[in-house]
Amino acid sequence: MEEKNEGKEKKGFFKRLKEGLTKTRNSISESFANLFKANEIDDDFYDELEETLVMSDMGIETTENIIENLKAKVKEFKIKEADACRDLIVNIIKEQMTVPENAYDFEDKKTVMLIIGVNGVGKTTSIGKLAAQYKAQGKKVLMAAADTFRAAAIDQLKTWSVRAGVDIIAQSEGSDPSAVVYDAVAAAKARNTDILLIDTAGRLHNKKNLMDELSKMRRIITKEYPDANVESLIVLDGTTGQNALEQARQFSSVTDIDGIIITKLDGTAKGGIAIAIQSELNVPVKYIGIGEKIEDLQKFDPGSYVTALFADFDVKSDIEMIIDSDIEKIPADDDLFDI
Ligand code: GDP
Ligand code: MG
Repeated sequence: MEEKNEGKEKKGFFKRLKEGLTKTRNSISESFANLFKANEIDDDFYDELEETLVMSDMGIETTENIIENLKAKVKEFKIKEADACRDLIVNIIKEQMTVPENAYDFEDKKTVMLIIGVNGVGKTTSIGKLAAQYKAQGKKVLMAAADTFRAAAIDQLKTWSVRAGVDIIAQSEGSDPSAVVYDAVAAAKARNTDILLIDTAGRLHNKKNLMDELSKMRRIITKEYPDANVESLIVLDGTTGQNALEQARQFSSVTDIDGIIITKLDGTAKGGIAIAIQSELNVPVKYIGIGEKIEDLQKFDPGSYVTALFADFDVKSDIEMIIDSDIEKIPADDDLFDI
């Protein structure tokens, strides 16, 4: 029963993800479908494929990798028709995106989550959603308002703490973010908290400040709470395309990043950015956001993501197939019992 409900929820999320990713005119799925109207695999075909992938925000480097990979497979399997390349391309992309098996181990440890990223990408909102979800799983959750730049940022997190039903550690506007982290870590230890979520300020204009502040926070966490696992996630706005990739590069040059949250995939995001980041930086996308509500953030599932990206493409998602097979299974069992 539980599994079925989860399936239903996932299907809703998948459907909305698909709608989000196919929202833009000239969506990748449309260009992708058109590609295979060509019969032959020639230079034109590869040029068009390149254009489609770059247009979807996949970036030059990742696009070139995919095409090289495809060319090798076309040669190996002696493929002659463009149409036969569809599954190959989708599979090549899926292969580049596997999320490591231990990617979510931190959820079951005593963890301090440091949420970083530039202004407006969705850090505070994502923390609110995560807090509510972890709490619903029965975890003891605490938030820390270490974005002390503006009073509004602290208030915003407070609102989320009420909505999620979790406690918050905050000081006044302008206070030292590291002092907030210090207080929060002490509280997390004293209260036997499972997950402490730390909201940080989104300043990138001064790289040195940012680096100093982040490393100071990390130092306090590891010194004051050596048993805790630190999970540092960067939040990126999916609608900003190649800028998001650049932000991920810059942050990873100054601090350790364990994973990525891509938000706003319900907007005009073209979606390829998730693929570019994962394959260029080799950091897994762990969560994706498709709206402003609590349930609009979920774990990243590369298989259904790629399927959603190529939505016009006549392939059933794994989730849809599971749901279908469940429906078929139930009456069959009932029949058996009737006999
Ligand atoms: P921060 O500055 O990084 O903390 O960003 P905020 O959490 O304040 O988010 C900035 C804006 O983006 C807010 O209006 C959020 O409601 C919105 N937002 C965050 N995530 C999503 C998302 O997945 N989809 C949409 N449509 N809006 C989002
Ligand atoms: Mg914020």
